[in-house]
Amino acid sequence: MTEAVPNLLRELPSVDALLKHPRCETLLARYNREYVTGKCREIVDELRAELRHGRGRTDELKEEAILARVENRIRAESVPGHVRVVNATGTILHTNLGRALLPQAAIDAMTAVAGSPVNLEYDLTTGKRGRREEMIQRLLVELTGAEAATVVNNNAAAVLLGLNTFAQGKEVIVSRGELIEIGGAFRIPEVMAKSGAILKEVGSTNRTHPTDYENAIHDQTALLLKVHTSNYKVVGFTSEVTLDQLVAIGKKHNIPVMEDLGSGALIDLTRYGLPKEPIVSERIRAGADVVTFSGDKILGGPQAGLMVGSREWIGRINKNHLQRALRCGKLTLAALEATLRLYCQSPNITQAIPTLRAFTRPLDEIREFGERVLPKLQATLGDGFRLMLEDSTSQIGSGALPTEELPTVVIAVEHKSRSAIRIAEKFRSANPPIIGRIKEDRFLLDLRTIFDPGDVIPNFTHEGAKE
Ligand SMILES: *Cc1c(COP(=O)(O)O)cnc(C)c1O
Repeated sequence: MTEAVPNLLRELPSVDALLKHPRCETLLARYNREYVTGKCREIVDELRAELRHGRGRTDELKEEAILARVENRIRAESVPGHVRVVNATGTILHTNLGRALLPQAAIDAMTAVAGSPVNLEYDLTTGKRGRREEMIQRLLVELTGAEAATVVNNNAAAVLLGLNTFAQGKEVIVSRGELIEIGGAFRIPEVMAKSGAILKEVGSTNRTHPTDYENAIHDQTALLLKVHTSNYKVVGFTSEVTLDQLVAIGKKHNIPVMEDLGSGALIDLTRYGLPKEPIVSERIRAGADVVTFSGDKILGGPQAGLMVGSREWIGRINKNHLQRALRCGKLTLAALEATLRLYCQSPNITQAIPTLRAFTRPLDEIREFGERVLPKLQATLGDGFRLMLEDSTSQIGSGALPTEELPTVVIAVEHKSRSAIRIAEKFRSANPPIIGRIKEDRFLLDLRTIFDPGDVIPNFTHEGAKE
């Protein structure tokens, strides 16, 4: 170590001097003093460490230069962790990208209640306390034909709450073919254990028969659970006990039946030429005591766990103290109510709900859209890139209809020297980031979920960099 280092260390300005510098005034007008002080100290400490390691130059120790570094640090820390991205993956309900996009009516409803008091649990007629899920219950009853309904934070919470209410300390019979795991660590055996219910597996992975349930029933049996195997399909030599059969067994032994439907559609998607997904009202009609499903899958609303069923069982669920721990806040309730109201009232549901709009978008429209954006994208990317409009397939995602694919049109992006991985990186570095998919070593932009041509034209100048 040379003698120069202690000399340089002495040149480091104090935090106080930095705070008094005119350049700091703007920072102090925008951020609180403690935060700015902390950032000044952080940078000065870093410079000191750099000097001790023999790095660092005199010009970096000037107050101006240090404050520029402080400003950069604050700017970097001001970028939100979650930013808008463009979903060109072809997976319509992408869990890692936040699943369903909310209808405008839901966004408006959230905005309306966000910053002001709201009669969340207040009856405006009587001036007394009301119930927060009242309106949602009414809408769900109308849409599903169930006697009653309630709502919690997500479907995992709904299953947990249902199991705990029906069967704490008692046995729940489930087919081995339905012991599912959903991405993000939702596993039936683990949820069962946390609910305090005891899992009683019956049958085998590929075949379960009514007699398997019958033989497992005894005085400790509290519930028959059916789980929609939403993210995989067992094919070949298979046999499943239908909900009708399960309900008949339950009636005979006086044991309730709950079904975890996963996505759960409120309307018949086959009407729009889409593959069949179980419809909630059909499951209620078949006699399930409680059906649970997600708010942000096919339904196309906010993250929520919806529970519909008999007055008796929904009543017991609402009395369970776990319900209090799993309940939704006003933003979710406002968005969900608005989405459900669209299902009841909208003259054009597939346009009003973005998820359904993407599901039902005609192939011709996607192709025509692709033809329009392709030249613009080519002009932006330049000569090194080769673009092709191709037929491909999209997925619904989030476990819904795993084996079904929707025809789509993609733009395949190739480069004379760059690999698909590098091209994907480049698109991710755009503002906003564009997320495509890689298939067979090629980078694809799936257009089914893209409605604004500007969305697939990458912008490589970063707004965030300027103040
Ligand atoms: C998605 C899914 C869940 C979990 O639902 P979340 O709303 O994500 O908590 C549970 N069960 C099934 C069958 C599912 O498909």
